[in-house]
Amino acid sequence: MKGIEDYIITIPDFPEEGVMFRDVTSVLQDEDGFRLAVDLMQKKLEGLEFDVIAGAESRGFFFAAPLAYNLHKPFVPVRKKGKLPRETVSIRYELEYDVAELEIHRDAIKPGQKVVLIDDLIATGGTNEAMIKLVESLGGEVIKAVFLMELAGLHGRERLKGYDVDAVITYP
Ligand code: AMP
Repeated sequence: MKGIEDYIITIPDFPEEGVMFRDVTSVLQDEDGFRLAVDLMQKKLEGLEFDVIAGAESRGFFFAAPLAYNLHKPFVPVRKKGKLPRETVSIRYELEYDVAELEIHRDAIKPGQKVVLIDDLIATGGTNEAMIKLVESLGGEVIKAVFLMELAGLHGRERLKGYDVDAVITYP
């Protein structure tokens, strides 16, 4: 039987030199790979009590939506600026060579709700840190962040110190 790592294709020097790009589409385009990825991420949530699953645009959506469906929880998309039609809160954060902005609908999370964050991959942790700030600004409590992949060498986990961070596969 294939392991999840067998479905992930790594592309060296994409989108720029020096980056080892871990391609999640190679998992999604295989029916067994996709199911395995969702099942393994779901295992990380076993026994956890929570109210909402929030996923990061866009690759986080691939996993957050099926997890929310399976676990019968609401799915909240955290989107890039300008995509959400109703009242939002937003946050700007630094990328390696750029600035990004994420938004969430103001009514998507109620004060006191327990929130699980989902993304395909944690690298520096900057995206997840921004999501945490958004959820907390609405009074939500982030109780766990689950990723399919973790790039340990970029120390995202340290940036998210104090939070429960879990990944299915860890690359050095
Ligand atoms: P970060 O904010 O640095 O943790 O970056 C996380 C986001 O960047 C994830 O949502 C990934 O989709 C994407 N990303 C960063 N590095 C890689 C990589 N080496 N391969 C694939 N995706 C990456």
